Amino acid sequence: MCIKEGLSISNILEYLMLMFEFWIQTNWYIAFVMSLVTNLIVYFVASYLITYLTQKITQHNRIGKYIDNRPFKKGQKLSEIKNGIIACSVFSLVSLLARELFVGILPLSFTQLLIEVIAFTLFYETYSYFVHRLLHTKQFRKPHSVHHYSVRITPWSAYSVHPIEAFLIGMSAPVFMLIFPVHLSVIFAFHILGVVFTLLIHSNLKLNGSNIFCQLLNRYTECHAAHHSVGNVNFGFINSFWDLCFKTKYIQSKVL
Ligand SMILES: [Zn+2]
Ligand SMILES: [Zn+2]
Repeated sequence: MCIKEGLSISNILEYLMLMFEFWIQTNWYIAFVMSLVTNLIVYFVASYLITYLTQKITQHNRIGKYIDNRPFKKGQKLSEIKNGIIACSVFSLVSLLARELFVGILPLSFTQLLIEVIAFTLFYETYSYFVHRLLHTKQFRKPHSVHHYSVRITPWSAYSVHPIEAFLIGMSAPVFMLIFPVHLSVIFAFHILGVVFTLLIHSNLKLNGSNIFCQLLNRYTECHAAHHSVGNVNFGFINSFWDLCFKTKYIQSKVL
């Protein structure tokens, strides 16, 4: 009974609210440490789980296979993890800006939540597409080459980025908060889901099933594997709208 009460959704929400309130009110360096611990836990747990599941699935050819089977580069995983830890630190520093810009912790109604979710989704798709294209220009090619060092990708490659790129990714929330009133819990949920989604699209996994889940996952993983394999294509994050507008969409079957 006690355990059930301790794990109930309302108790978890109450605990999260207390954590948000403490994070807002405490000193900046304690807030930074809280953000860093959260980012590192999500990064390590989700990367490990997705890598483990991918390895298990690809042991059975009938269920799924790797999109790209080329060998890994020497020392690739270690350098990816080192870069991932630095990226988590940069995200945590930038989160201190979000602490100054939110309008409240929880949206006051479902409609408000829906508007914030739609607005941030549209904003992020546009922001990430153009930032990614900027990173492929001559001026930013060197810092972005850190991410493209990984040709055959794994979830650990997802945040193997230069600190400048980590800063640009992290700044998406504060920039959005400057132009649109948004609640902290919405930004927090987007950040956690965004990290897990980014790890997932770097899984290099193609499932054999024909259901909607397999088709969706394959679409994202093949799209991003093609970006690492080809280069100046498939810059979009959750859809291909801007890629289609600017003719940067690549049909992966031509390559892999
Ligand atoms: Zn790129
Ligand atoms: Zn990538």
